[in-house]
Order: sequence, then structure tokens, then C-alpha cells
Amino acid sequence: KKNVLIIGAGGVAQVVAHKCAQNNDILGDLHIASRTVAKCEAIIASVHEKGAMKVPGPFQAHGLDATDTGAVAALIGATRAQIVINVGSPFVNMSVLDACITTGAAYMDTAIHEDPAKICEAPPWYANYEWKKRDACKAAGVTAILGVGFDPGVVNAYARLAEDRFIDKITSIDIVDINAGSHGRWFSTNFDPEINFREFTGTVYSWQKGAWQENTMFEVGREWDLPVVGKQKSYMTGHDEVHSLANRYPDADVRFWMGFGDHYINVFTVLKNLGLLSEQPVKTAEGQEVIPLKVVKAVLPDPASLAPDYTGKTCIGTLVKGEKDGKPAEVFVYNIADHKDAFNEVGSQGISYTAGVPPVAAAILIAQGTWDAGRMVNVEDLDPAPFLDLLNGMGLPTRVKDAAGDRDMTF
Ligand code: NDP
Repeated sequence: KKNVLIIGAGGVAQVVAHKCAQNNDILGDLHIASRTVAKCEAIIASVHEKGAMKVPGPFQAHGLDATDTGAVAALIGATRAQIVINVGSPFVNMSVLDACITTGAAYMDTAIHEDPAKICEAPPWYANYEWKKRDACKAAGVTAILGVGFDPGVVNAYARLAEDRFIDKITSIDIVDINAGSHGRWFSTNFDPEINFREFTGTVYSWQKGAWQENTMFEVGREWDLPVVGKQKSYMTGHDEVHSLANRYPDADVRFWMGFGDHYINVFTVLKNLGLLSEQPVKTAEGQEVIPLKVVKAVLPDPASLAPDYTGKTCIGTLVKGEKDGKPAEVFVYNIADHKDAFNEVGSQGISYTAGVPPVAAAILIAQGTWDAGRMVNVEDLDPAPFLDLLNGMGLPTRVKDAAGDRDMTF
């Protein structure tokens, strides 16, 4: 058994907490820490409300500023946590990682580190921050699994699965993320608006023809005809996993596609052109200084509040093309998740659910020794079979579509 410390108390942390509780016979004592301790307490209360604890055991809330490495290390020590699941904001990654390296606890996150002072991080994303700590992790024997949400995360395991079983020579990897659900609000982002908008305000990077290519947002569109969710419009966007996958498969084109409706694009374009997505402070006529992006965040719905009314499904997958036995081949490895099912099980919407279940599967594999790598890795560096096998039973089943048909993937 290994004690778990969850950092952050947002939408994804809610799912992580429920899934840790459902598996606390394998994991050990559970702890959750965030800036606002009341949010941690509310999450623990919802865990008990659903009767989610598999076996009786402690689940404690803590107040923490996760940008303070010393404070994180002290909490790891006090809780005797051996696994830290960082699902706080991406601004806290490096301080939490440093605390894990100091204390020897295993580290996990679901997004690259971001500098709040920068509008948008440019590639090579992992090499900008996290990979600089690879030697330190190795020297300390610390397991750090980067980007183990859904995308990045499960989609990286899907690419590796294609390499292991379906395609000999990979020529392209297209990650497709479609949310065909509806939250019923006039406008809302599905996760932190600040992070959501930051993802789309800068240059769009993709890895094609062996080099980084640059486009503008909503410049390159593609329509997909996908299982369950059908025909869907998507646009090429930059995303963490394009970097790590391009590093492993440098000869392949690696692109990320996100589904957007026309309404989202209209609202986003207006906000951006008005300057309301800027993180640079402006002065009002009254002399008050405000950050436009923070104001927009404050007036938009809290993404966690969307959960009760969210209906519909998500389809997220990895399309891998190349050659098998000298002939052209392609495979689409994917998952379908349902917003309502997620809410009924853990009280969250589907986007948080798909991001929050995978790090708990990874924590179980660390506790069991299967994924306890003793170094820093991205998900595609690890054997995907035990991970996807666990996820099949944890609410995120893998399906495969290729020339042989469309079927459940079993391991
Ligand atoms: P939320 O904004 O809902 O939650 C973030 C949490 O981080 C909040 O509880 C906040 O604390 C906490 N936090 C922020 N700063 C600090 C700090 N200095 N010290 C302690 N806690 C802090 O985000 P989500 O739950 O939606 O997302 C969490 C992470 O998951 C993000 O990094 C996001 O990018 C990532 N993500 C990954 C996905 C994937 O598939 N890979 C998909 C979706 C999200 P408080 O509320 O107490 O102020």
C-alpha cells in the first residue's frame, strides 16, 4: 500500500478523489490539499456521500500553497505520502515535482508546467521545464509520470499500443478530441477558462515533415466521421503530447485536433479581438487595475457547476497511419465517455472524468510495482497494456477501429 496525496481541488481532483477512494484497498491513506481547504473538505464529503471508500480508511483535507516547495515537501513528510497526484493548476508543476524529488515520493501530473507570466508556452514543451529534472529524478530513483490524464495521457498509450501491435512503421499520428456533449449554458469552457483560452490564443504548433510547423488558431480545419459521435468539425491546435510523441516518433507527422462549434469560435474571436483574453493588466478610468482574462474567468460559469446538466458523449482517440508487413495500414484507438454516467458515478462532467481516472490507474500500477519506473517518463515510454487493461474496468474502455472492424480492445 502507498499513501496518496492529491494536489488541487478542482473538477479533475474531484474525480481523482472518488477513484482513489474506490481503490483504497490497493492505495493507502488518502490526502487532498489545495489553496482553499473548504474545497478539499467538500470533495471528501462527496466521496462519503457516494459511499465510495472501498475499505474504511483515512481521507484528510489540507490547506497548501503548492508553489511553495518546502511546504509541499513538509506535507508529503507529514502524510507519509508515497504517491503525489498533481491535478492543481499547471502553474504548480515544478514546485511539486521538486518536492517529490526531495522526499522520494512518486510524481504525476496531467498537463505541462506553465509560467503564469507567459501568454502561451512554445515548444519544445516538456523540455522547457519538466525534462530538465530528468537527471535529478534518475539520481533520486523517483518515478515521475508526466501528462497522465486523457490527452495527454491515454492518447499517448494509444499511440504506443499502435506501435506495439498494429503498425510497423508509423508515418502519422493524429489525436482527435471531440466533446459532442451539451451543457445547456449560453457559453462556458469545460475547464479553467484561463487555461482553456491560453491554449488557443497563441501560435498553433504541429510536428510535420520532421520539424515544428506554425499556423494560427482556427486556420486548419478537418471534418471527421467518428464512431458514436458521427461527423464532427475540428481544428488543429498545439498540445503537450505533440512534443513527446514527436520525440519518440520523429519521422511521423504528429498533430492534435480539437472539436469546436461555431458558437465557441464566435465568442472566442470576439473576446480575443476586444482584448478581453489578455493577461496584461489594464487601468480603468477610475484608476483600478484589472487583468481582462481574470475578469472574463470571474463572470463565466465555474466548469464544475456544469456537471449536473451535462448530457452527451465525448470521443477522444489516436489515429495512427503507416505500414504493416509492408502494406499501408491505419488504426483508430479511442474511448467514448458519457457526461451523465460520469456525473452519476463521481459527481463530475465527462471532461474532468476522462482526465481524472487515468492518473489513479497509474497510481495503482505504481503501488503494484508495474509502472514504478524509478525515473521520469512520458506515458508512451511505458507498457500500455496493464494501464489500458485497468482503465477497461475503471470506466474508460478502449476500442479499436481498423480494417478488421470496430471492437472492444482486451488485454
Ligand atoms: P481547476 O481550475 O478546476 O482546479 C485547479 C485546482 O488547483 C484548484 O482547486 C486550485 O485551488 C488549485 N491550485 C491552484 N493554484 C494552487 C496553489 N498555488 N496551491 C494549491 N492549489 C492550487 O482545474 P481542473 O481540475 O479542471 O484541471 C486540473 C489540471 O488538469 C490542470 O492542470 C489541467 O490543465 C489538467 N487537465 C488535463 C486534462 C488531460 O486530459 N490531460 C484535461 C483537463 C484538465 P483552489 O481552488 O483551492 O484555489
